[in-house]
Amino acid sequence: MTGSNSPSAPTPTGTGTEQVEVPYNHRHLLGIQGLVPREITGLLDLADSYVGLSRQVDKKRPLLKGRTLINLFFEPSTRTQASFELAGKRLGADTVNMSVRTSSVTKGETLIDTAVTLNAMRPDILIVRHNSSGAVDLLAQKVDCAVVNAGDGSNEHPTQALLDALTIRRRFGRIEGLTVAICGDVRHSRVARSNIHLLSAMGARIRLIGPPTLLPPSAERLGAEVFTDMREGLKGVDIVMMLRLQSERMEGNYLPSLREFYHLYGLDREKFDYANPGAVIMHPGPMNRGVEIESALADDPEISLIQEQVEMGVAVRMSVLDVLSRRLPNGGPKQ
Ligand code: ASP
Repeated sequence: MTGSNSPSAPTPTGTGTEQVEVPYNHRHLLGIQGLVPREITGLLDLADSYVGLSRQVDKKRPLLKGRTLINLFFEPSTRTQASFELAGKRLGADTVNMSVRTSSVTKGETLIDTAVTLNAMRPDILIVRHNSSGAVDLLAQKVDCAVVNAGDGSNEHPTQALLDALTIRRRFGRIEGLTVAICGDVRHSRVARSNIHLLSAMGARIRLIGPPTLLPPSAERLGAEVFTDMREGLKGVDIVMMLRLQSERMEGNYLPSLREFYHLYGLDREKFDYANPGAVIMHPGPMNRGVEIESALADDPEISLIQEQVEMGVAVRMSVLDVLSRRLPNGGPKQ
């Protein structure tokens, strides 16, 4: 264990009743790029205070009472959509889920029309996922409410990076100085991009590991070390962050076969043993068991933080909703 917090001694959690000031100077949350470390730390501190609240029988704190939150998802989602819904409900907002099929209409028309229509219903916060990079920024320019990017194409997924950071911070007591390997389909991953921005801003060392076809062009310019040999790349890392093969974003053949991919880049016990003693495994989900990760490792509570990531997702999204609502017109301080 490289940090101060072991699994048996988790960070003390608040109950969401503490007043946590967050120096956040934006109307929206569109990406991690552009946030400064004290804003990230503020969001994580507030999220930490919501972990305890979600573990109580009464999980509600009606800070967003009277507010309307719309989940607008143009792509499928399980964890992200459910956790934004729960986060909104735990904070007392009226929460509406809209899943939009993009098959029959062009993306541009759908996006702008939908934005203008929803805007007329006067929501306070819009949570948006879209399969095109930049789409959520575009939509944010058309509405009066606060907008949260729940994943845009292969660009950013800021709340995933925040929940990953909270999970890491609670386990290791810090982010600075840790070495994090982000492995697999980095090229198509918005999770990887947001994590690279966040972890490097917070002083972690980042390694990207994958086949050359699945690494982003000019990966070194992202400030990371790049490895195509997984065993080499895992030597001495504290955190192994696995990514899903995102076939929905692949045009053409990136891999000879899934079997070959698992052989070279699938995380199994033998490869994981190259990481530091006390290293942990993370995955944003959904997982392809037997493709990028061996089931037994993913389910090993000693080393897998995957379920904790899901729990932290709700706390982080409560933090984001709380902070953005403070900046809404007539958003005032907490009662
Ligand atoms: N759930 C994450 C995302 O929406 C990761 C993934 O889909 O592989 O980007």
